[in-house]
Amino acid sequence: MNIASLNVQRDALRKELTRLDAITPGCGNCSHYQLEKCDVYGQVPPGDWFKGPVDCPSWEFDALPF
Ligand code: SF4
Repeated sequence: MNIASLNVQRDALRKELTRLDAITPGCGNCSHYQLEKCDVYGQVPPGDWFKGPVDCPSWEFDALPF
């Protein structure tokens, strides 16, 4: 590794971390949220869960904007 490749890798990782840090886990962006209910737990999530952040072990994110 040289200084140029070190800097390229650092920049790439910073950009990726910025992208990941911008994701707030919540029911509203979870792939299990279908027809206004959670398809794992079968319940309508409360408002603060919809917005997040949540610490749900079943949260999944497909990265699609719709
Ligand atoms: S799996 Fe968890 S985060 Fe996803 S919709 Fe259900 S309760 Fe919300």
